[in-house]
Formats: sequence, structure tokens, C-alpha cells
Amino acid sequence: MIKRDDRIHPIISGNKWRKLSSLLSEQPENIKGIVSFGGGFSNHIHALSYVCNQLNMPFVAIIRGDYTKNPTPMLKDIERWGTTINYVDRKTYQLRNDHDFLAQLAKRYTDYVIVPEGGSDHDALNGVTQIVSELTLWDFDTIVTPVASGATLAGIVSSIAPHQHAIGVAVLKGADYLEQLVNNFLPEPRENWHISHNYHCGGYAKVTQALTALCKEVTLDYDIPIEGVYSGKLFFALKEWLQQQVFPEGHKIVVLHTGGIQGARAHTR
Ligand SMILES: *Cc1c(COP(=O)(O)O)cnc(C)c1O
Repeated sequence: MIKRDDRIHPIISGNKWRKLSSLLSEQPENIKGIVSFGGGFSNHIHALSYVCNQLNMPFVAIIRGDYTKNPTPMLKDIERWGTTINYVDRKTYQLRNDHDFLAQLAKRYTDYVIVPEGGSDHDALNGVTQIVSELTLWDFDTIVTPVASGATLAGIVSSIAPHQHAIGVAVLKGADYLEQLVNNFLPEPRENWHISHNYHCGGYAKVTQALTALCKEVTLDYDIPIEGVYSGKLFFALKEWLQQQVFPEGHKIVVLHTGGIQGARAHTR
């Protein structure tokens, strides 16, 4: 079964909706705006910018790299939605979790909420656990999801039953590192999950011909839009596992389509 979180909202990408939902449902009254971080194709920045536009909430996006001369479709959207874009070089961007850097930001943007890259913090997990609670009618055996910052997988792992298993498909190179990220988010250690590192196709947002072909095939033949950064790698892994008969017969699998179609626009790599 495919859990179509890509269908949650036409603009707000699936798992970014989940991750932002607890921030947005609380909606503290005294906050003046939101600051967050992302790359030039970020689904998180795109989702948050749209939400802030709808809420009339000032939003400052700190973007890795300078796209002034050549903005991506994502950046054009958020500009239209009134986001203040702040381009920084890679070195500055690396400070995004640094204590002093964040203190400076907090001073500059008083009463703004600073949301980490990808919307991934402990609060984000609450929204993600919602996915599993929507699946209670079907006692699945395994759920598979793409992994980047680990918050989505951690939210799933923390909410599935002990007899169920979660598999993350790494979309970037990071053996051990990704496992550590997931463990950091988990409220308590769990055994019923693992990450597959065989399908990142060379790194984040890197694609191969076979991956691009599969994205096209699934999008056209099955009318399920997938792209090469996240869902494509997930489907690629799944196709291979089914061919190799990795799962026993009758094994019930949930494939979590996390959305992210906007990020693929003009993504030529
Ligand atoms: C951000 C994103 C992910 C990765 O989620 P993490 O919680 O960062 O691991 C997966 N799929 C899509 C479409 C995303 O935008």
C-alpha cells in the first residue's frame, strides 16, 4: 500500500506538513515571525513560506548559496509569497545549528521562532506520529520511507508497534551518521528499524539514468508523481527488493510517499 502524503496539500509538501503541524497548531500569540534554513530547492522552506503567507506571518529564509542571478522555481515562489530571502555562503550556512550564531539571530529577529533545517526538531515528531495513527486499520508488517535528517523515520519508529518494522532509504551518503541522527530524535532506543544505504545514487539530489527512468515510468504509468531526490530513491529500492523477493510472501508493506514534487522542478542534475 502506498500512503499518499504527497496528496495532503497541493503546495505544502507531505512530510513538511507533518513536521510543521505542531508548530502551527500551537501558534503562539506573541511570536512576530519565523526564521528557517534551507537549500535552493528546499521543500521545507517552500512549505513554510506558503504557510506564513497564508497566516500573514513574516518569514525569513536563510538560503545556502547565492541565487540572486539565477533563482530556482522554489525561490521565485517564496519571493512571490513575501518571504525575506537572506543568501549566505556555505561557511555561514554551516553555522545553522551553532549556539552563538543562533543567539545572534535571535537578537536580530526578536520574538521570531527559529525553526531548524528541514523543520526537524523534537516537536516535528508529534506530527509524524500522526501518519502511523492513520494506519491503524491495516496491520502492516513493514513501513518504508526516505531519510535525510532522520526526523520522519524517528517519528515513525517511535509510533509503530514492536512487531512492526521501519526501513529508511538514505537519500544521501551517511552511513552511521544517519543512524545517529535518528537515534538522537528517538525518545528511547528501538530495535525494529534500519536504514538502507544502497540507493542514494551518489549523494543528495544526485540521480542516475536508471533512477530518472523509474521516476518517469511510475509518474506516467501509475499516475503517481515521484521525483529523483526523495520518493524516486524509495521506489527504486522497493522495486529492487520486490524483484529480489526480500520480503516473505504476504508481507504487508506501507510505502510512505513523503511528497516533494516541487523540489524536482528545474532540477537537472
Ligand atoms: C525533507 C523530505 C524528506 C526527508 O525527511 P527527513 O525527516 O529530513 O528525514 C523526505 N521526503 C521529502 C519529500 C522531503 O521533502
